[in-house]
Amino acid sequence: MASLPVMVTALLATYTSATPVLSANLDAGNVHVGVDLNGVSSTLKGLFTSAAQASPNVTTSRCKVYPGDAAWPSDEAWAKLNELSDGRLIADATPRAAVCYPDQPTYNATQCAAYTVAEWQKSYTHIHDPIEMYSPVAQGLTCSIPNLFDSRGCTRGGFPKYVMNATEPKHVQLAVNFARNTGVRLVVKNTGHDFLGKSGGKDSLSIWTHWMKDIEYIEKYEDSNMGYSGPAFKTGTGVQAFEIYKAAAEKKRIVVGGEGETVGVMGGYILGGGHSPLTPIYGTGADNVLSFEVVTADGEFVVANSTSNTDLFWALRGGGGSTFGVTTSVTVKAHPDVEVTAARFGFSSAQTGVETFWAAIRSYVDSWIANADAQTYTYWTLIPSNGTFAFAFSPFFAPNKSLEDATALLQPWFNKLNELGVKFDPNITHFDNYYDAWRSSFPLEAVQKPNVATASRLFPRGNFESEEKRQEIFDHIKRSSEKNRVQVHFNMQAKDPANNDNAVNSHWRPMVSFSMQSVRWPINSTSEEILKIRNDFQDVDAQSWRDISPGAGGYLAEADRLEPDFGFAFWGDKYPKLLELKKKLDPYDLFFATTGVGSEKWKVESVDGLPNENGKLCRVE
Ligand SMILES: Cc1cc2nc3c(=O)[nH]c(=O)nc-3n(C[C@H](O)[C@H](O)[C@H](O)COP(=O)(O)OP(=O)(O)OC[C@H]3O[C@@H](n4cnc5c(N)ncnc54)[C@H](O)[C@@H]3O)c2cc1C
Repeated sequence: MASLPVMVTALLATYTSATPVLSANLDAGNVHVGVDLNGVSSTLKGLFTSAAQASPNVTTSRCKVYPGDAAWPSDEAWAKLNELSDGRLIADATPRAAVCYPDQPTYNATQCAAYTVAEWQKSYTHIHDPIEMYSPVAQGLTCSIPNLFDSRGCTRGGFPKYVMNATEPKHVQLAVNFARNTGVRLVVKNTGHDFLGKSGGKDSLSIWTHWMKDIEYIEKYEDSNMGYSGPAFKTGTGVQAFEIYKAAAEKKRIVVGGEGETVGVMGGYILGGGHSPLTPIYGTGADNVLSFEVVTADGEFVVANSTSNTDLFWALRGGGGSTFGVTTSVTVKAHPDVEVTAARFGFSSAQTGVETFWAAIRSYVDSWIANADAQTYTYWTLIPSNGTFAFAFSPFFAPNKSLEDATALLQPWFNKLNELGVKFDPNITHFDNYYDAWRSSFPLEAVQKPNVATASRLFPRGNFESEEKRQEIFDHIKRSSEKNRVQVHFNMQAKDPANNDNAVNSHWRPMVSFSMQSVRWPINSTSEEILKIRNDFQDVDAQSWRDISPGAGGYLAEADRLEPDFGFAFWGDKYPKLLELKKKLDPYDLFFATTGVGSEKWKVESVDGLPNENGKLCRVE
């Protein structure tokens, strides 16, 4: 990751930082590509220039440019892109499961056998892969390990054709300029965790930000516009939750990041808002951003903060990834460490009987407002299985709470469980620091299954304020379970104590429960069958949750590609401004992400008609 010391005055920061990698040519706060194009032939040079250096060659063709099109760049052009980016362009990266297919160059029966389903679904198995996504359904399921899903061979499907393995802003600028000037589809992948698969795109050029791993601690960062004076971390955008949490713990600090340990918290997570076990006390990830370094659609490398490129700064804090630019670094607040009390336990209807089980869940709903107001974060699950139901606190997590305070908060519900005769072992543990509490409390989550889609809802306080409303939401949760929907809920509040004006979904603020339900289909269903199940899931199950929370929304990173009216759902009253900014900041529609801001104008025409990345990206007529 390169730094921009020239921008420090704009940052209002009291630190000075490292030497820039770019041979920067400063102009009104922007830095142009420091790549020497002198040796590049006149026919190719235009592919690498920024929008300011030459009028962009914006095509109006219906679809982006794909292999086989006359406009597809020549081998010589791709080779030059590779050369200019210090050999960091990866061509035709092989899908990981290709080791299981004898017709693939990487076929390796031993490696294939090592990919048990459990091994394959571990998030660490794919952590350093340039193309793999944690949402295989969105990739198009064209190359799976056979013991998980029969993909009938191994083809590239929704994977990109070229990957820019970017470690410096210069690499990002080259890819951005090349895609804008050629019309090739551009995607951005960090970890590939997005539930909707927004890091993929058939035959695209992908910018892979994973190895932007620098972490710099800033003792004192000041920005009076943001009302902040205190420590901060400036990190590369490839930094993951487990990395920043560890770095912060070493300084006895905490940073707002996800509960999932491999999430790219400085990339797509923070750009989309991002909830955290610390959200109840410090707001979303995006609320904690002080500054970004970013490559814009024009190919400029700029700082976006409270004084430079302020529109861009507003949009990047919650407006979603792959929409307004490619961030290469982010500076975030570093808060003092906190004590934490956490509880993990579960019970199932197999032990309690079905009636008692539901009475126990009904009584739990009564405590959600109190738990959210007390600034706790409860990750809890409701799993149906062959007519039985299992509940788990996974965990109840109380930052800034002593053992006594947290126990007192849980006690009213525990009393009801005791009255109902539910046997449970609450396993309440106190930690004197966040890092140990987080490591001990949250599960290592897995890659999504090949037959699942998830819809989400940010249920506001109004859904819990009366007995009648609590009964209503309970009835809907129960009904979803009875229809075999797997549910994951986060009971919390997401108010921003600094009350920043940013693009974070306005629906987060009155929220008391971020709730998800998933539909599963028989693994070998046809495309038509899957589409019907997915449409029914939206029209019936997800719609019933929408019906009881009119005017609420969902979470853009943990949601369904089929979410209707996604602009309002994912951004609420911020959407009209975001649409205006999209037109202004990316007039070329260079950046696209399904359900991203402004994505209504484009659609992936998938080969099987399913909502996935295995097809050309074309304009909606
Ligand atoms: C196991 C698991 C656990 C999760 N836990 C949490 C959690 O605790 N809290 C939470 O809020 N969410 C959580 N999520 C959801 C997660 O926040 C989103 O999936 C998020 O989008 C991941 O960002 P990423 O950069 O890691 O993933 P990617 O899928 O690589 O990227 C997500 C989106 O951001 C774009 N993007 C990524 N980096 C950049 C960049 N530098 N510049 C521009 N665009 C970029 C991508 O193009 C894509 O559109 C979890 C997901 C999984 C699968």
